[in-house]
Formats: sequence, C-alpha cells, structure tokens
Amino acid sequence: MEKKTAEQSSPDHVAVRRPLQKPGLHRHAESVARLVWPQRSLITGREVPGPGALEPELWAKLQFLSAPLCARCGAPFEIAVDVEQVCGACLARPPAYGRARAALAYGEVSRDLVLALKYQGRRDSLGLLASWMASAGTELLQDADLLVPVPLHYFRLIRRGFNQAVWLAAALSRSSGVKLSVDALARTRATPIQGALSADGRRRNVQGAFRVRKSRRGLVKDRTILLVDDVLTTGATAEACSRALRQAGAACVDVITLTRVAGPRTVPI
Ligand SMILES: [Zn+2]
Repeated sequence: MEKKTAEQSSPDHVAVRRPLQKPGLHRHAESVARLVWPQRSLITGREVPGPGALEPELWAKLQFLSAPLCARCGAPFEIAVDVEQVCGACLARPPAYGRARAALAYGEVSRDLVLALKYQGRRDSLGLLASWMASAGTELLQDADLLVPVPLHYFRLIRRGFNQAVWLAAALSRSSGVKLSVDALARTRATPIQGALSADGRRRNVQGAFRVRKSRRGLVKDRTILLVDDVLTTGATAEACSRALRQAGAACVDVITLTRVAGPRTVPI
C-alpha cells in the first residue's frame, strides 16, 4: 500500500511530524531549562541528579520487555523460542488484534509511572515513555499507517480533562512521523472501571463499547492501524477496539502500550 507523505495529506484532525529543532539549539535550550526547572523524578517529583528521569533505585525495578515474546500478544517467554512462536492462550483463542507489544512489564514502578501520567498529568514524561514504546514496537510502527489511541468516554474525559492514551499516541506520532487520528474511535457507552473485574467480566464490560466515527472511516479503511494505550491487562479493551476498527474496514490492527501485565492471556474455559 502506498503511504501518503505528510505534505500530501494533513487535515486538522491528523497530526504529522513537525520539523525537528536544530540539535545544538535544542540542547542549549534544554540545559537552560534544567537550570530553571531541574530534572524531577517522574514518580516522586524529587530532584534527580544527572540525566536520569527516575531515582536509581526505581530505575532498577523497571522491567523492560524484550524477546523472547509471544509473536501475537507479546507475553514474555521464559525460555528462548522461535520468533514466530505463539503462546498457548493465543493458540487456543487468537486475539482480535494482530500483534501487541509493550515497553514495560506492569509492576510497582511502571504502575506509578502510569498513575503519574493518568492522575497527575505528568506530560514531561511523554518523550521518554514514547521512546521506550517505540523501541518495543519498532516493527509495528514501521508497518503502521495510522496511530489511534483508545478513547475515554466523554464523561470521564470531562472529569479528567485529558486522555493519557492520546498523549502517548501524539508523542509517538511526533517521534515516528506516523500519522495520528485522535478521534477515529469513539466510546459508545461509559463502562465501569475494569480493575475489580475478572478476564471474562472485562470482556463483557467492553464488548461493543467502541465504534469508528463515520467521518473517520475513510482514514481507517484498508489501513494498518496501531492502537495506543497505557496498559494492556487482559487485552479485552484492545480486542474490542480492534473489532470496531476491523468492522470499519481496517486491514490490520496492532497494539502498542506502555506497560502490560506480563503473564499470559487468560483463556475462558
Ligand atoms: Zn500470546
């Protein structure tokens, strides 16, 4: 499929890569900014010495995900396997998306990073978090025509004031040059917070809760979509979004998240 360049197509709702600043100028501005606003830990807000964005003891607890992984859902394997290897859960019930990848295993520190983003609106972490996601999803980004964030329901968006998935998708779009549509997907109904639900409950909770907006169908049709979210837990939300995108004619849907629960997907018995 022929990819359009930023110059060929850039309607208002589609973000395209802006020209980068000159590196020297950028570095200078950054060092001046550090004098005025010293680097603060992305979690505790304390001043961090040196270039790190976290205290060393917190860095040490981050678990970056890398091969060997399930070729479909991205669950880490404990032993080396073929790159095409698929986990038991994906064999038993292939997910609605093509491939899912995440930068970090969901744990104490990565959870706090997500919470800082979600509830404190720590936008200063976005460049770094997006660079981790881009490393984890290099192939997915190369294949993607369009980045689409998982939407929040209107009422939740109003209450929180922002959607962290949109922020992550915009940061990824800026660094990769892949186009972004922030509103291709809509949440058709408010769904209860998923935290306390079982895998099956989560699936029922989000079933049919997403649709592609009529005005955005042309953007999605026959395209490879990269769905963006902060966390992948059971994958129920990613699957519901993928189904909506496929129903609207998307050729393929992959998923990139900042963190994922590292265990294998659960399969209903
Ligand atoms: Zn799998």
